[in-house]
Amino acid sequence: MSLVVQKYGGTSVANIDKIASVARKVIRTREAGNDVVVVLSAMAGETDRLINMAQKAADEPDAREYDSLISTGEQVTVTLLAIMLNGMGCPAKSFLGFQVRVLTDQAFKKARILQVETTAIRDELKKGTVVVVAGFQGVDRENNVTTLGRGGSDTSAVALAAALKADVCDIYSDVDGVYTTDPNICSRARRMDRITYDEMLEMARAGAKVLQPRAVELAKKYNVPVYVKSSFTDEGGTLVTKEERDMEKEVVSGVTYDRDQAKITVVHVPDRPGVAARLFTPLSEHNIVVDMIIQNASIDGHTDLTFTVSRKDISEATRIISEVLKDVDAEKMEVDDNVAKVSIIGVGMISHSGVAAKMFATLAKEGINIMMISTSEIKVSCVVEAKYTELAVTVLHDAFGLEKES
Ligand code: ASP
Ligand code: MG
Repeated sequence: MSLVVQKYGGTSVANIDKIASVARKVIRTREAGNDVVVVLSAMAGETDRLINMAQKAADEPDAREYDSLISTGEQVTVTLLAIMLNGMGCPAKSFLGFQVRVLTDQAFKKARILQVETTAIRDELKKGTVVVVAGFQGVDRENNVTTLGRGGSDTSAVALAAALKADVCDIYSDVDGVYTTDPNICSRARRMDRITYDEMLEMARAGAKVLQPRAVELAKKYNVPVYVKSSFTDEGGTLVTKEERDMEKEVVSGVTYDRDQAKITVVHVPDRPGVAARLFTPLSEHNIVVDMIIQNASIDGHTDLTFTVSRKDISEATRIISEVLKDVDAEKMEVDDNVAKVSIIGVGMISHSGVAAKMFATLAKEGINIMMISTSEIKVSCVVEAKYTELAVTVLHDAFGLEKES
């Protein structure tokens, strides 16, 4: 008897008919002799609709109320599924975040999970009940409802799987696995059977939308096997797992892009100790994630500092930076949100040279200017003008031979 956590995304629960097919899938899993914990997203588009209303209600909605509001989409889907399962003769019970007690910190809109209590869920499983948990939400120590950031129900699912020591965490959505790149912009994209946690993490961070990066971090930390599957077919799937020897053979395994990037340059700052700290500490205090950072070599004791943030954080970030500009004696700040980040990823890079050079040459051949570069052991990212996103992805996918095996 296994314990299976299944997470269904917004498109899989988009309406009553789709929720009914989720119910049938859950029942099949249970009848195969498994304990089942289901984690759901809101219906596709619902979280956006709620966010829209909040933004109409006030220029800067109160964060506590905002989280309480945008978490309601999940309450609808979990209760509907539980009602359906019970109607089909399968005992089921829904749980909101606070009822499980998914304890988080107090960073509204992007709360981090501190602890998941398992007693209530285990008691239900013992009785043979299917447990249906609202993803994306938790509760802080003062009983405020919190949300985990967009796409956060993946993180809910993995956190539950880790806490319950589940045998597997299946993530169902409208894609049947992890591809070498986005099939919507490159027809030659290929589905991978397996991918390592590290590669998946870099792909998710670099913009691949299949899994929330924090979900992958958690899966890696607690060694939770994650299966990315389609809720519409039983074919395919990609297993996200530990690295194994034969996975090393590919130098580059995927190409990703991220259009959610904005570039801020702080121009002509004195090159002295403490400047970077003065700029970036207030950003982190406001929970703004800074992605790439470049500091130029200094000329005459001055330098330019460029970094990228998510587009949604741009107004807050520019406000914060303009407040410290004087403090650090910088000349001015420039903002460019017409950029995208394109990345190549692969564990094989560790043992091969010339990978970055090949990427730069491939982009150069198309006349694509590189504005920023960052590298990690298994990733090279370039910031380019947004209009070149598709072209850059396609030529890199070809250059590294990732096309479909015929
Ligand atoms: N419903 C939430 C969102 O749209 C959480 C999720 O889908 O994972 O971000
Ligand atoms: Mg989602």
